Amino acid sequence: MTDLFSDAHAAALDVADPLRDFRDEFHLPLHDGAPQAYFVGNSLGLQPKGARAHVEQVLDKWASEAVEGHFTGEAQWLDYHALVRDGLARVVGAQPSEVVAMNSLTVNLHLLLVSFYRPTRERPAILLEAGSFPSDRYALESQVRFHGFDPATDLIEVEPDEADGTISMAAIERAIATHGSRLALVLWPGVQYRTGQAFDLAAITRLAHAAGAIAGFDLAHAVGNLPLALHDAGADFAVWCHYKYMNAGPGAVAGAFVHARHARSDRPRFAGWWGHDAATRFRMGPRFMPTPGADGWQLSNPPILALAPLRASLALFDRAGMPALRAKSERLTGYLEQLIDAGLRDVLQVLTPRDAAQRGCQLSLRVRGGRERGRQLFEFLAARGVLGDWREPDVIRISPVPLYNTYGDVLRFARTVQEWRHAA
Ligand SMILES: *Cc1c(COP(=O)(O)O)cnc(C)c1O
Repeated sequence: MTDLFSDAHAAALDVADPLRDFRDEFHLPLHDGAPQAYFVGNSLGLQPKGARAHVEQVLDKWASEAVEGHFTGEAQWLDYHALVRDGLARVVGAQPSEVVAMNSLTVNLHLLLVSFYRPTRERPAILLEAGSFPSDRYALESQVRFHGFDPATDLIEVEPDEADGTISMAAIERAIATHGSRLALVLWPGVQYRTGQAFDLAAITRLAHAAGAIAGFDLAHAVGNLPLALHDAGADFAVWCHYKYMNAGPGAVAGAFVHARHARSDRPRFAGWWGHDAATRFRMGPRFMPTPGADGWQLSNPPILALAPLRASLALFDRAGMPALRAKSERLTGYLEQLIDAGLRDVLQVLTPRDAAQRGCQLSLRVRGGRERGRQLFEFLAARGVLGDWREPDVIRISPVPLYNTYGDVLRFARTVQEWRHAA
């Protein structure tokens, strides 16, 4: 029998890891002079070492060329957003013309709701998950009100129906069957931020479409975490941020997807000059002619400095490839789960689905014994350089990221929990 808790076991797994060298591509925050065990990539991904060069290139260009920087070199600012288009399309499984890097997540959600949430008297409602990320709920609620409808009746939340707070596909199906004729939109997460549950986007899209509703997705916790196939799934639109698993830095420019079937949509939209047909944009004419595809939803010339780190990030995703990242992710999170099952079950309860197909890298762990005990453990871990994040009232989220976390990191988490139990 292998001892799961032995250094030798974790070290052997790390040596056999084909992606082990990617850790060197990141700046690892230190604790007492040694790298932290950083499990908070679901909140802010680590800095790729390559990011600085891209930011400095922009600063240097600005210093030496000023306005000419818009029109010179392969990284000219005029179409700088196009530099990330192909890489993004690969990460989310889209055609290049279906994706754009712009704005921030909640802004993109509002912009796409303007086009894709078109409530009528007969169909005013939006279906979402209960306990959704507050910003999404605020955005949806304000859109319902903006159109003169009532969130109390027209924001329909699907309650968790499974023991650990997750939502079965059957519950989603039932909700769509019950409310289908009133639904304008189903807005669903790719991975639920609190539970870590991953959903079948293609299945949800089929159900939404069969009911005559639009299917939109928030992929904040899915992008860079799970392989995605947005085009084939048939999603109408999706939005996400790039500072979590995409490692593009605090406040990084976010992403949006609009399916090719809407590329030349005449749906209403909020327009700005950067969404205008690129060939005629600088004729500065009075009539808005959207450029086809996701680019047509842009408003402004992009914040180049906030976009630059994404180039470094996407280069790493391209080199590693989502299939290899996912394969490691399943093993790495699987190891965390094994350790909990083998030796920490009296302390931690796994809330995230046990089926690897229904989760990304994150495990949401309820600390047994209530909030105070949970906070004690959380602080004990942090004081020893093991960083997870806290969700009230008693949950620690641990997200082993295959690009930079090791099996050794995961073992360190488990050992530190044991140490705490021993000391408590
Ligand atoms: C992280 C996250 C956000 C954050 O929104 P910003 O507009 O980037 O501040 C919104 N929704 C979900 C589901 C998230 O996970």
